[in-house]
Amino acid sequence: MGGLTVAARLLRAVPDARVTVIEPRGEHHYQPGYTLVGAGIYSPEEVLWDQGELMRPGMRWIRDSVLAFEPDRNRVRLEGGDVVSYDVLVVALGVVNHVDAVEGLGEALDTPHAAHIYDLSLAEKYWRLASGFQKGSAVFTYPPGYVKCGGAPLKMAFLSEDLWRREGRRDGIEVHVHTSRPSLFPSVPRVDEAVTPLVEARGVRNHYESVLRAVSSSDRLAIFEEERGNGETREVRQHYDLLHAVPNARTPAPLREGPLTREGIGGQLDVDRETLQHARYPNIFGVGDCAATGAAKTAATIRKQAPVVVQNLVDVLSEREPSARYDGASGCPLLTRYGRCMMFEFDYEGELVNEWLYQPTRETRLWWEFKVHGLKPLYRHVMLNGYV
Ligand SMILES: Cc1cc2nc3c(=O)[nH]c(=O)nc-3n(C[C@H](O)[C@H](O)[C@H](O)COP(=O)(O)OP(=O)(O)OC[C@H]3O[C@@H](n4cnc5c(N)ncnc54)[C@H](O)[C@@H]3O)c2cc1C
Repeated sequence: MGGLTVAARLLRAVPDARVTVIEPRGEHHYQPGYTLVGAGIYSPEEVLWDQGELMRPGMRWIRDSVLAFEPDRNRVRLEGGDVVSYDVLVVALGVVNHVDAVEGLGEALDTPHAAHIYDLSLAEKYWRLASGFQKGSAVFTYPPGYVKCGGAPLKMAFLSEDLWRREGRRDGIEVHVHTSRPSLFPSVPRVDEAVTPLVEARGVRNHYESVLRAVSSSDRLAIFEEERGNGETREVRQHYDLLHAVPNARTPAPLREGPLTREGIGGQLDVDRETLQHARYPNIFGVGDCAATGAAKTAATIRKQAPVVVQNLVDVLSEREPSARYDGASGCPLLTRYGRCMMFEFDYEGELVNEWLYQPTRETRLWWEFKVHGLKPLYRHVMLNGYV
């Protein structure tokens, strides 16, 4: 998403630029729609586009994967054996699921009791499980480290709880949210304060600083390491009949194991969080999930980052210092129940911005409709065409 958005905007700014997109996948996944697949609102086909149709005139698409970055030689090596040289490089590799970080999770996901929405086929499976779930213990997890769309794991708990309530099954179902964080939405305290009492009133049992370490699928146990408050941890074994377990995330290997990251940033791209320029290679920029900005990993973030990257790329190509700054802005449509959504934008400090527009701590039908019907065309026709 970030790569195509920057490429399209760059071509608008510099129509004669020679822009090459290196991307192995023939299908483009509209990942923000995975939540709605898991909620039974979209079909899987509704979040897929032909990648070729998204390439704008002027983009050269190389359908291959980067094997290695060679920044000292201004080139990348591809899996197919080709070598591609560049004047400026934009790294937009995203992040991928690291299922093996939790012992037994991979096996559990093969059983009929576990799924998650961070993968399209598993999102479809989750909808089958949730819609058919009659009674028992439903357990939702939130991994440590960075997560794509920090609201998404919670959205699934809230929507499922609402579904079971509407369909008259709620009394027979316990809903547990185990989050690795100290509260539900610590990155935006005002939203945290608004949403926590709402879901507690709905009987959701929240477990904080509780990290999924293992899953024993034969006896349907999720095993958590929980903070006890004094720096010590204890093991908590939670039985589940339905498990929504969000895997840990990590960056793809060429970035994680290559020269463009450094110690202490979880394998992410080492960029300045304001200019989005690489810390050591001035002709390399980062956008989106793979960049170590500390900002939320969302498409909304990319909407704000892409113009900054393009301006700063143009500056570097014109032998000027990068002039544009990214302020950490991101946004989230927090689906709190079917037909209701809290929409908000926030900055690096977790402060809400543009409150007058969003009325961020209210659950509204308007923002639900916007999430379901408005954001996908915005992503497809505005962002991917470089009109950001
Ligand atoms: C369940 C879920 C819900 C979400 N909900 C929202 C939401 O409500 N709102 C919102 O704003 N955002 C949401 N997001 C987040 C949003 O989808 C991502 O932040 C966004 O897609 C990130 O874009 P990106 O370009 O950084 O990465 P991606 O879009 O993931 O693109 C990375 C690309 O890199 C390619 N790639 C990987 N390895 C290589 C390689 N070695 N060589 C070449 N190419 C490679 C991949 O094929 C991929 O096309 C959600 C995400 C998920 C998973």
